[in-house]
Amino acid sequence: MRLGDLELYILVAGRWKADGGLMFGVVPKVLWEKQKLADGNNMIDMACVGLVARLNGKVIVCETGIGTKLSEKRAQQVVLREPEGLLHSLKRLGIRPDEVDAVITTHLHWDHAGGLTRWDKGCLELTFPKARHFIQRSEWDFALRPDIRSQSAYLTEDFTPLEDGNQLVEFLDGDAEVMPGVQIRHVGGHTPGSQILVLRSGELACAVTGDLVCQTPHLRVPWTMSADLEPLRVMEEKARLFEEAQKHRWLLVLSHETDQPAGYLEEDGRWRPEPRLA
Ligand SMILES: [Zn+2]
Repeated sequence: MRLGDLELYILVAGRWKADGGLMFGVVPKVLWEKQKLADGNNMIDMACVGLVARLNGKVIVCETGIGTKLSEKRAQQVVLREPEGLLHSLKRLGIRPDEVDAVITTHLHWDHAGGLTRWDKGCLELTFPKARHFIQRSEWDFALRPDIRSQSAYLTEDFTPLEDGNQLVEFLDGDAEVMPGVQIRHVGGHTPGSQILVLRSGELACAVTGDLVCQTPHLRVPWTMSADLEPLRVMEEKARLFEEAQKHRWLLVLSHETDQPAGYLEEDGRWRPEPRLA
C-alpha cells in the first residue's frame, strides 16, 4: 500500500504458536478465548509480522521474525512454520538482501531478531550484509546479560555477529530520526530497550508497534502480555500511541496478529483493518 511517498508491504516472516497465558497475562481465559482460539495445549496462533518500506530511494525492513536457526526441538515446541517468509517476500518484491539499507527490530527477543542472522555452510552470516541496523543500547546490553526471567528469550547468535567489527550496528539512546522520515521511539516496558518505528510522509504515518501491541485484543490498553517486564509502562506507552494514532490516523502494524495485522484504530476504539498482505 501507499501512504504519500511511502511504499509499504506488510508481510508474514513466520508463523508459530504461543501459550495463551503468555500472551494475555492477568486477563482471564474466559475473556481472551472469545478473541483468540486456543488449541488443546492452550496455544494460540501467532504470526511474525514484518514490514518492508521504500522511502526516498531506500529500502527499510522492520522486524525479521524467528528465522531459520531454531533447534528442531524448539521449532517443534512453538510449531514453527514458514520461517523463510521474510526472504521469500523480499524475493517476490524483487529486493535482494544486500539491497536493504536499514533494518530495525523492535527488540532482540528470539521471535523478532532471529531473522537478523542465518547459517550459511556452517558459518553464521548476517541476513542483510549491507544494512545499517538500529538497536537501543539498553536492549543490547540487557540481551547480553539478561535477568533470570528473560534468559530464554534472547539467543546471542541472533545479534552478536552484528558487532564483529563490520560497523553495521548503530546503537540508539532513546528516540531518534535515523533517516529522513524514519523515526524510532524508545518505549521500554516489554523489554528495557523496546522501540517502535514510525515512518512518515508529510502528515501520513505508519507505526510498527512491536510487542507493545501484539494482536488485536491487545488494542485494549490493560491487556498486556505476562512476558512484559514493566506492564504499567506498557499501558502508559500504549495509551500514548493510541491517542496519537487515532488523532492523526496512523496506520498501525501489530507484531503478532495472524489475520489482519495492519489497520487504523478508530476514535470509538474499533479496528479497521487494511486487508492487503504482500
Ligand atoms: Zn514477540
